[in-house]
Amino acid sequence: MKTLVIGTGGREHALALALSRDPQVSEVHAAPGNPGIGAIATLHDVDPMDGDAVAALAVQIGADLVVVGPEAPLVAGVADAVTEAGIAVFGPSKEAAQLEGSKAFSKGVMEAAGVPTARSFTCTTVDEAAAALDELGAPYVVKDDALAAGKGVVVTNDRAEALAHAEACGRVVIEEFLKGPEVSVFAVCDGATAYALQPAQDFKRIFDGGRGGNTGGMGSYSPLPWAPADLRETVIAEVVQPTLDEMARRGTPFRGCLYVGLALTDAGPRVIEFNVRFGDPDIQPVLALIESGVGELLKAAAEGRLHEVDAPVFADGAAVTVVLASAGYPESSSKGDVISGTGNANGVDSVDVIHAGTEIVAAPSAAEPDHKHLVTAGGRVLAVRATGYDIADARARAYAAADLITFPGMQRRSDIAAEPLGVIEGAAVLEG
Ligand code: AMP
Repeated sequence: MKTLVIGTGGREHALALALSRDPQVSEVHAAPGNPGIGAIATLHDVDPMDGDAVAALAVQIGADLVVVGPEAPLVAGVADAVTEAGIAVFGPSKEAAQLEGSKAFSKGVMEAAGVPTARSFTCTTVDEAAAALDELGAPYVVKDDALAAGKGVVVTNDRAEALAHAEACGRVVIEEFLKGPEVSVFAVCDGATAYALQPAQDFKRIFDGGRGGNTGGMGSYSPLPWAPADLRETVIAEVVQPTLDEMARRGTPFRGCLYVGLALTDAGPRVIEFNVRFGDPDIQPVLALIESGVGELLKAAAEGRLHEVDAPVFADGAAVTVVLASAGYPESSSKGDVISGTGNANGVDSVDVIHAGTEIVAAPSAAEPDHKHLVTAGGRVLAVRATGYDIADARARAYAAADLITFPGMQRRSDIAAEPLGVIEGAAVLEG
């Protein structure tokens, strides 16, 4: 099986690694990829947002499966272009990607499907927003209707701040505050049925203890030994299957990853959000533990024949990912800082160094005219992932390997997977 991964980040590197380790996968290609992906796959300089170019590349290399990593190309219709070229693509159509592209759309589907979620109002005027805030009370949750790269949500006790965010966004969803640990469950969907992968937790704040600004994610772990043992079954039965049925009924079947962000409340799991792709870094530990073939799983989902493959099999034990971020993150990011130690870290038993925002630049000297440096090229630079017998073991390995990597201004949390994220990080949201 020849595969093509679309995207540039840690998620795509983790996907490319999983595919490269699947005996059924003969070739892994990526566009545009990154230096880490380049070590295990063939890179192609193609714009991930250009559907026609992606489809042409897939045809040119004879891809049997295209996996689209990020949401933006999906919302822009890149999966549709690949489908039109007659090639299987893991990732939803433009219309089905509205489950992430519009919070109001996604809430409407949840409501029609009877999915347990926060009570909400979609508002387009300040008066409507004010009424919704007063109806639901504090803490206030105000979400930009449109894709905002994780920056569209304000959770606050300050009514004026909530209202100002609503005014700034225009169209917003205002919803009830959900209390309880937040978990990610990824469902691999084929339009009609789905398999849920093991749940994960993602550490969102830049500093230890859930302090500081919101990030794309500073670390993650999987599975969650403290979560209900039947969480995956519950999520499929109460959330994913009804959503797939509703999307099919609307004539826009959902194929790809339905990422269910949940709050485990006292009243049971409640959906915080849907995304239409794997989450990063939450998916990294999940992929590390899948023992069965990822290629055939994703291809069967893409081709609407998930019933033909067995449910994914997971290794015992746990996996932990620790993100290394550049100076200034999350407000800004520092580019060009020279990174050292990735080779040694990658050599640690059970460890993968996953590239998220790196670049290779020429650094010629008289002695070494061809010398090159690996440098930072984004906010989240690298992720160090380890598997182990349990979370403590995986965590120790991940940090031991992360200790080998340095670059100027490097930031990392020291408490990833040290304890389960209860309401701690959620409570910190209200301080921020
Ligand atoms: P979202 O982009 O919808 O995932 O929201 C970003 C973050 O805001 C989530 O990861 C939660 O931590 C928080 N959040 C969103 N919706 C709610 C809610 N209804 N109750 C509590 N926290 C929320």
